[in-house]
Amino acid sequence: MTTQHTAVHRIEIVPLPAFKDNYIWLLRVGNAAAVVDPGDDEVVERYLAQQRLDLTAILITHHHPDHTGGVAGLVARHKPVVYAPVDGRIEGVTRRLRDGDEVALAELDLHLRVMAVPGHTDTHVAYYAPGILFPGDTIFSAGCGRLLGGTAAQLHDSLLRLGALPGDTAVYCTHEYTLSNLAFAQAADPDNPARDQWLATCQALRAEGKPTLPSTMAREKSVNPFLRTSSPGVIDAVTRHTGVRPPDALACFTALRAWKDNF
Ligand SMILES: [Zn+2]
Repeated sequence: MTTQHTAVHRIEIVPLPAFKDNYIWLLRVGNAAAVVDPGDDEVVERYLAQQRLDLTAILITHHHPDHTGGVAGLVARHKPVVYAPVDGRIEGVTRRLRDGDEVALAELDLHLRVMAVPGHTDTHVAYYAPGILFPGDTIFSAGCGRLLGGTAAQLHDSLLRLGALPGDTAVYCTHEYTLSNLAFAQAADPDNPARDQWLATCQALRAEGKPTLPSTMAREKSVNPFLRTSSPGVIDAVTRHTGVRPPDALACFTALRAWKDNF
């Protein structure tokens, strides 16, 4: 299993694969641990037991079952503090969060800032600390979440907001969708050598069974068509696909999202 040490910290961030293509990210310092979006408690439980870790916190980005399904089981056994956005569809929450709130994980010596990033859902949040971002299903490598409750305008704004974070921010996306997203990116942003390079890297990683994540924000800005809605190559590809030149970045984003839905 791959373990990533962040530049900012003694924290280790470990991907726990779950379901078909989810990652539950586990943060650990010493014997303290926190998890982000535990859709499956058995996957987390196995790692906690194996490594003799204490689960002190759960961070939820949005209400979908593949991100929340393990909360009840983990709460029953470990009594962690559960952080989640204000949303009645998420149960067992200790602390409800709004944009700009701070989450202080004392055992991990980590302070995270809450960013409201609606779009995939209407109440989705991301968690950010210098050097690390947990964006849930808002952004994937070379892609973004589908519109399942929020609007295209919301998701576009949320991606612009995430894109404004420092380039060296590690982006811990929650799904291994990178290769299929890159196939779409080849159609939607055909002349992009940085993307071709990232594709070759990811094909090699997947051939070895390794995650393509985390990505970085700088990389996403060079390979992710949904962050490149002002780039002439993307605008031309959307124009060819729809027959209409998008008048602005939001129109380009909206057309891209609809195109990807049927790709
Ligand atoms: Zn989701």
